[in-house]
Amino acid sequence: MAKNQGRNNYRFYTSSANAASAARLNMEHKLRQALEFEQFEVWYQPRFDIRTGQIVGAEALVRWRSPDFNLVPPAQFIPLAEDTGLIIPIGEWVLRTACQENMKWQSIYPHSLNVSVNLSARQFVQEDLLNSIEKMIADLSMNPSRLELELTESLIMPNAEDTIETLKALKKLGMQISVDDFGTGYSSLSYLKRFPIDTLKIDQSFVRDIPEDEDDCALVTAIIAMAHNLKLAVVAEGVETIEQLHFLRNYDCDYVQGYLFGKPMPAADFHQLLKNPLNLSEQFGYSYCYPL
Ligand code: C2E
Ligand code: MG
Ligand code: MG
Ligand code: MG
Repeated sequence: MAKNQGRNNYRFYTSSANAASAARLNMEHKLRQALEFEQFEVWYQPRFDIRTGQIVGAEALVRWRSPDFNLVPPAQFIPLAEDTGLIIPIGEWVLRTACQENMKWQSIYPHSLNVSVNLSARQFVQEDLLNSIEKMIADLSMNPSRLELELTESLIMPNAEDTIETLKALKKLGMQISVDDFGTGYSSLSYLKRFPIDTLKIDQSFVRDIPEDEDDCALVTAIIAMAHNLKLAVVAEGVETIEQLHFLRNYDCDYVQGYLFGKPMPAADFHQLLKNPLNLSEQFGYSYCYPL
């Protein structure tokens, strides 16, 4: 198209392409510096047991505190980090930081708490993944069952046979595996019975419009029933309203995460939450729910 529109347009096209690649290089440089100068932070979003109402752990979510752009959300730098391979050292740092944090929680809070960490595709296929996780767990003397790895369907599907081997090895090390953004991957469901998975996280797009949207209600209840029949636990993501909470509790969802209970927060704020924990049944009156 640029060709048909004559020389000037073509030149415009190439110079904007150059500008884009220069911007990309600049961003890549900034990401490398961010690693070197330790500008990444891990924030934590609490997860609750819907029946007891108690906090059971948190999801680790990375942020970049950039001197140029303030606090950058992961959607704005994870894709470039994946393309450039920088996700490997960033991801390793997130994993170690989150595990170290998790061990601190045990001294603040009387019950055991899990930490879940998102893994990207690039990390998952990395040859060294198992060794580096095993070494980290040993270095920290961490109980591996406290660590949950969140993987997306699109990440685990492409190379199913290798994936099964890797997941089995991770399970053997004692970790838990969850499928993140479940329902958005357009993949065959047969992997659910073949892969050693513990938990499905229902994507927030299905949670958003319950209980008003009948289709979403049908999908959410079907996912919960299917997961339980397969002996998997279910987490609902993106819970923002009391009505959503009550619906999920009535339909026997196991765990919830969402702005209603807490946005992702810095480690220090999460410590405060643990010192003065929220209980869902006290806070959000379960009296509207069916008795269990
Ligand atoms: P995710 O793993 O599905 O994380 C859930 C996202 O939903 C988080 O966004 C969280 O802040 C947001 N969220 C939680 N509750 C609610 C709610 O009630 N309403 C709404 N509207 N949103 C809610 P965040 O932190 O911006 O992370 C976005 C994505 O970036 C994550 O999606 C994950 O895929 C990726 N990510 C985050 N941290 C890491 C990391 O350390 N490594 C890798 N590889 N990916 C990460
Ligand atoms: Mg996640
Ligand atoms: Mg998700
Ligand atoms: Mg709908």
